[in-house]
Amino acid sequence: MNKAKKTFKFKETISTLEFDYGFKSDVLAHPDAQGLNACFSCGTCSAGCPIHEIFPDYSPKKLAKMVRLGMRKEVLSSSYIWYCATCHNCEQRCPQNVKFFSILNVLKNMAAKKGYAPAVWIEQTKQVMETGIVFATEDSWVKKRKALSLRSLKVYADKIRRIIGKTGIDKIKPRISSV
Ligand code: SF4
Ligand code: SF4
Repeated sequence: MNKAKKTFKFKETISTLEFDYGFKSDVLAHPDAQGLNACFSCGTCSAGCPIHEIFPDYSPKKLAKMVRLGMRKEVLSSSYIWYCATCHNCEQRCPQNVKFFSILNVLKNMAAKKGYAPAVWIEQTKQVMETGIVFATEDSWVKKRKALSLRSLKVYADKIRRIIGKTGIDKIKPRISSV
């Protein structure tokens, strides 16, 4: 696969004085992130990550290390944490059984609460709340399904709205600018 020309860089250097040593504890406090301490930075996760293949600076190994170092702002404000394709390769290949995908979800939740959720993510949530499905259906799809005698797409938007309302996702504001 060709490497994309566009790459994204984290800040090149950082002083250890800037580390937030409570960050790792905050992440580890979540049950889904408890394997993080077992990571020994082997890089197997990054080697099998399809997003890393396209954006070499996106690296599960690097993100795991940044969390362990206490780089709270750099991690939570980074666009990278929203790049994941949810393929779970990192988890399947990790020799230490670190559940990186789950850790990423913890990071995304923390980032959203801090106001770093991408606008497109908020839009997609609204779409699910309004229609019960992630992508808006087009009239042409509906007609094609009818022509093929496929059942109609029944949505349970009211139930989904209630579930989303209970999680509080609908209250999250999108990030105002990229950081
Ligand atoms: S594969 Fe596992 S142990 Fe290796 S860097 Fe990734 S998370 Fe850490
Ligand atoms: S789940 Fe996300 S981070 Fe893990 S390998 Fe797939 S794209 Fe990469």
